[in-house]
Amino acid sequence: PADLFAPERINSAGVEFGDRAALERLTEAVAAARGPADAAAVIDGVAKGGARRDVVSPSDARTVVGTVAEASPEIAAAAMVAARKGAVAWGLLPAAQRAAALERAADAMEASRGRLIHLLQAEAGKTLDDAVAELREAVDFCRYYAAQGRKLFGAPEALPGPTGESNRLSLRSRGVFVAISPWNFPLAIFVGQVAAALMAGNAVVAKPAEQTPLIAAEAVRLMHRAGVAPSALQLVPGDGAVGAALVAHPHVAGVVFTGSTEVARHINRALAAKDGPIVPLIAETGGINAMLVDATALPEQVADDVVTSAFRSAGQRCSALRLLLVQEDVADRVIAMVAGAARELRLGDPADPATHVGPVIDAEARARLDQHGAAMRRAATAHYVGEVPGKGHFVAPQIYEIPGPGALTEEVFGPILHVARYRASDLDRVLDQIEATGYGLTLGVHSRIDATVERVVSRLSTGNIYVNRNMIGAVVGVQPFGGHGLSGTGPKAGGPHYLTRFATEQTVTINT
Ligand code: GLU
Repeated sequence: PADLFAPERINSAGVEFGDRAALERLTEAVAAARGPADAAAVIDGVAKGGARRDVVSPSDARTVVGTVAEASPEIAAAAMVAARKGAVAWGLLPAAQRAAALERAADAMEASRGRLIHLLQAEAGKTLDDAVAELREAVDFCRYYAAQGRKLFGAPEALPGPTGESNRLSLRSRGVFVAISPWNFPLAIFVGQVAAALMAGNAVVAKPAEQTPLIAAEAVRLMHRAGVAPSALQLVPGDGAVGAALVAHPHVAGVVFTGSTEVARHINRALAAKDGPIVPLIAETGGINAMLVDATALPEQVADDVVTSAFRSAGQRCSALRLLLVQEDVADRVIAMVAGAARELRLGDPADPATHVGPVIDAEARARLDQHGAAMRRAATAHYVGEVPGKGHFVAPQIYEIPGPGALTEEVFGPILHVARYRASDLDRVLDQIEATGYGLTLGVHSRIDATVERVVSRLSTGNIYVNRNMIGAVVGVQPFGGHGLSGTGPKAGGPHYLTRFATEQTVTINT
């Protein structure tokens, strides 16, 4: 139904960066909220011990942001047992009460913006505008799923029936959901998964990415204080072994995962190999996302949108542009303008509001990207290779020309853009090549010809298509986000069909 789009809800307000006073208030709030952070497994609201590890900043490995006591597989199992108990009472609460707790959590996150933005910058290397946008997204997820959940889970749907019978359909919780979230949106995706599973009446055992436990711990504290029952939300920071223990546990009734296609497959196999109930997986993974630019596009706008899509967030979004396909008639000019716009980007400390591009997440990511860049410089034409600041895990924006879409076979998760030229008469073949990657997450199109836009849209099954604009930063409830095939299972996060996948359906027929 149309009202599942929750039209009465409004997205949270951001910060107008052009408004000096507003920007100053924000940076002061962030500065005042600095200070060490800590994270540990939290079972029924009680912090557990574990192997302690310093969490260091991706911008400077000498800066310790906080410490984490990592959960062992045994603690993970204890969290599953506690969640199974917690799921009963939480699932029986009226939907309106669960929704109200999520709405209070959203308010609490807005009220703690200084601390959350500080952690996003210090622990995940987010620039100020990325951090502000991410906080908004987390808040929006809570309010959106709460608004939808009141309707979906509020009262059963009465259905028609033959004389003498009444029929009704309701949604019910599944039990314990395991939520495994990524470091690239350590607040928004962490909170989005948890909020959806909770709204549907499930208890959640959440495992944040190994790189970003501190912000997850802060979000859990706020959610508990806002009225999410401690037994309904258990936190287990740890590595892949902890995730594997959760997925393998007999109490798991559903898994929601965002991360690499490879890990999604691994989880899928592990679930399939288990005896007992068939456990659903909701996975959102990566993409080899392309943007098509034809000869009618406006080059200045293209340059701006390409740089935003490929290099902002240091290219560490699964929606980011990886493959720019430019019609050959305009290719030299467009590529030169993109390289010129990339040259203007400021790399550096994410705490500085003037920074456009922060670090990549860790040494491993940097090494992988550096290796790919070096291979590209040997095999392809380099159109632009930027410079990196001295310390920290920085990777400069880079632009390489490759012979065609088929030459890029893996997702390169960072600020490295690949460009290829195409002939106008070859458009259909290029579209087939994009479809043939098997991914289907985001796509950009820059064209002033409506028929071309329609041709692209109808021929490709990509989940999110952006025309004449950048292709990142899907807004909750406005651009439901997610792909299919190698890019994930759906349903779209921040869309009207997401919550139902966290639930089971029950039809009751009464012979009256
Ligand atoms: N939803 C984000 C966007 O539209 C991307 C999410 C992700 O990287 O996982 O940019």
